Amino acid sequence: MSELRPGLPEPTATQITEGFWQAAAEGRLVIQRCRDCGAHRHSPTAACYRCQSQSWDWDEHSGRGRVFSYTWSHHPVHPGLAHLGVYNVSVIELDDTEGDPVRLVSFVTGVEPGELEIDQAVELHFDRVNDETALPVFRPSRTP
Ligand SMILES: [Zn+2]
Repeated sequence: MSELRPGLPEPTATQITEGFWQAAAEGRLVIQRCRDCGAHRHSPTAACYRCQSQSWDWDEHSGRGRVFSYTWSHHPVHPGLAHLGVYNVSVIELDDTEGDPVRLVSFVTGVEPGELEIDQAVELHFDRVNDETALPVFRPSRTP
């Protein structure tokens, strides 16, 4: 069950982000990919940063990546996080993407302060909120 819940507001899907959240609810990570030049991008936007095309698809991703940056929060920014005590907010750079690096702001589960490192390999899993919502989160990679 959810490590981040209960009490946090749920993500608000927009026309552009709806497919991302729908895939997450199904346990899949999808990243926007330009149909014309192949560049991945996140957060979802209407047009490609590289070629300005407005034609795109969702591309399923393995969820493997590395810790690009992180911080440990000692003061919860929302009452729904208070049960975690000290928690991390991490920026994960995904492996195997085309174009500029694709980074997600997320959470690395199962680690204590001092156990996260820049460039540490991580893998995706999902924090299930309810039947309609799951959040993509990460954990230290179990495979090299
Ligand atoms: Zn493009």
